[in-house]
Amino acid sequence: MFDQEILMNHLKGPYKGIILLATAQDANKQIYPLAWGIIDAETNRSWMWFLSNLKDLIGDSDELVFVSDRKNSIENAIAHLFPRAHHGYCVWVSARAYRYFVGQRYNILTNNNVESLNSMLRHAPSLPITCLVEHIRYTMQKWFYELRASATACSTVLSPTMENELRTTFEASTRLQAHGLTDNLTQVGISNDTDIVDFSENTCTFHEFQLNRMLCVHATRAACLRGKSLYDLCSPYYTFEYWECAYGEAIYPVLHEVDWIFPAEITGTPIYHLVYVVLQVDHPHNVSNLETSIPHGSGNALAAVDLVITRPHVRITLYHVRCKQHFVREWLKL
Ligand SMILES: [Zn+2]
Repeated sequence: MFDQEILMNHLKGPYKGIILLATAQDANKQIYPLAWGIIDAETNRSWMWFLSNLKDLIGDSDELVFVSDRKNSIENAIAHLFPRAHHGYCVWVSARAYRYFVGQRYNILTNNNVESLNSMLRHAPSLPITCLVEHIRYTMQKWFYELRASATACSTVLSPTMENELRTTFEASTRLQAHGLTDNLTQVGISNDTDIVDFSENTCTFHEFQLNRMLCVHATRAACLRGKSLYDLCSPYYTFEYWECAYGEAIYPVLHEVDWIFPAEITGTPIYHLVYVVLQVDHPHNVSNLETSIPHGSGNALAAVDLVITRPHVRITLYHVRCKQHFVREWLKL
């Protein structure tokens, strides 16, 4: 079970960009960060970069369900990179998420993950990118340490949230009637409100049992009638062992620079700086298109127009460009 949610946070400080966070859900139904990324804009190219790195980490599987609040470039990238996964999306209405999906399993609670991300990063948007990355790393270090301690102290079979859920379900199930139909099928409920639980495939006609891989009231009642262990019918993903395992690895700090090992793909990548430059000035009598003056090989493709300033008879277009800093100095005669 691997429900994925992609969260976004726009950096509003002096350093523009978008923080991306791919999350899953841990055994205690809490948000579980999988991968962070910072992109300059929401383009096909940046989604492909982020999601192809994510794919290296988690692979593709038909057990995977993506949830995002976007339906454009991310959808193309997911369809291209994760052909086996399911993709749903959610719509935020009054801080409550209504999610739509096509998937076999789905059990994320409607907790407002975007709000948790925003509160975690509330001081971060004004930080330069390296400090921001360190801020995220340190937050993760603390987060993993604290949750590992909670998981290790857990003395129940399931995680605390799931143990409570099972107890509540069990109490509700005692009010239902159950009758055997065949060796595997059990009828649960009363006259016109009846569901059938099938223990050959662990399904219930109410669908919650197979979707959540967690006992519903009907399956709980049927299991009690048949003398089956309730814990054996819950997915192992909800056990305290899985919960502890998720936080087993420490998030280490970055140590001395002399000991750093740079992968070849990083040392070979030119560093581009994001700047605003005036690239086009339109005047009724003198249209100068400064785009043509970009030196060959000095930067890559222009992004969308960011701002158009109109003065009488003059239109100045500001573009967001990625380019090497010394070329910018040349263009602007700095
Ligand atoms: Zn059911």
